[in-house]
Amino acid sequence: MELYIHIPFCKQKCNYCDFLSWNGEAKQREEYVQALLKEITAVKEKKEVTSIFIGGGTPSILEPQQMKRIMEGIHEKFKLREDAEITIEANPGTITREKLEAYRTCGINRISFGLQSIHEDELKLLGRIHTFKEFEESYHMARQAGFQNINIDLIMAVPNQTMDRWKETLQTITALKPEHISAYSLIIEEGTPFYEMDYEFSEDLEREMYEETKNYLKKQDYQQYEISNFARPGYSCRHNLGYWDREEYLGLGLGAASLIDEQRWNNTRDILAYLSYANEPEKIRINQEVLMEREQMEEFMFLGLRKTAGVSVKKFQEKFGDDIKTVYGRQLEKLTRDGLLEYDEHRVWLTERGISVSNYAMAEFLFDDE
Ligand code: SF4
Repeated sequence: MELYIHIPFCKQKCNYCDFLSWNGEAKQREEYVQALLKEITAVKEKKEVTSIFIGGGTPSILEPQQMKRIMEGIHEKFKLREDAEITIEANPGTITREKLEAYRTCGINRISFGLQSIHEDELKLLGRIHTFKEFEESYHMARQAGFQNINIDLIMAVPNQTMDRWKETLQTITALKPEHISAYSLIIEEGTPFYEMDYEFSEDLEREMYEETKNYLKKQDYQQYEISNFARPGYSCRHNLGYWDREEYLGLGLGAASLIDEQRWNNTRDILAYLSYANEPEKIRINQEVLMEREQMEEFMFLGLRKTAGVSVKKFQEKFGDDIKTVYGRQLEKLTRDGLLEYDEHRVWLTERGISVSNYAMAEFLFDDE
């Protein structure tokens, strides 16, 4: 199984963020680390771990010793596969040489930087805590500390962004040669400061930016392996691929989601409840449900089709005992006719056009309720 560890603290809240995070004091951060260690010790799931993703929030806000203790707790509790991919999310402005060295010492082998833009005015508008220069310093420090697998997160369709400015971000970032780039469109979520601004971005320009991203990164030797993710050969994020392949995952920490034995649940989002009961995982797990076969099939399709490689015909047959073409024959034909999907005896995948309208294409695989 995969492990996800949630660290819900950030220096300050970004203007577009609706993730479970806030600016916790040092004392609360330490209480949280202690609770997380209790949860790690108490969980009963003990399958071999293939990858770990430490996300947030801003995991790099923790002190080096705190991250070391968390990783020690994990090493003590779980059997990690020898080549396990272990990622930490980090924000420029919270990184020090000492922290990077601590990450390397405790086995973290991939770092994911939340940069979003190279332009100071865009960073400010987004409410980011760092400048581009601070990012560059963190990036080079990470290389010096020995990280050979680095992701950079970018956001397009930022208010007032022009195509030229987006291209500058892409060009500057690829010049640094990270192994992986994630490029998402800004999504305006209810309850965030951006939502109050009542801001609209041209849909046509957003589509053009997405096309530019795909074409430009391809020329720079980045393979698009998912709707918003691009990697140098051999550097696709294994943790995320596992998620889209519906591998089992155990989420630890506040609000973290899990999928084990076709059961899904979330940890509580209530920090006081979490701090009090982390040593009794069954008390902090909420929204537990067993997925019916049709829900599993839907997820298999709409998560799997996010990948440019698509879904495996054989895996579908093995898991559900049915031929994918029998279950989804009508949808496959319709989407193929529309030029959005292709399939052969091994795989079913979205075409480039299908990827561009993936929400529409994937909705076809939801079963009608009647
Ligand atoms: S750093 Fe990430 S998690 Fe933290 S507030 Fe900003 S977007 Fe949200």
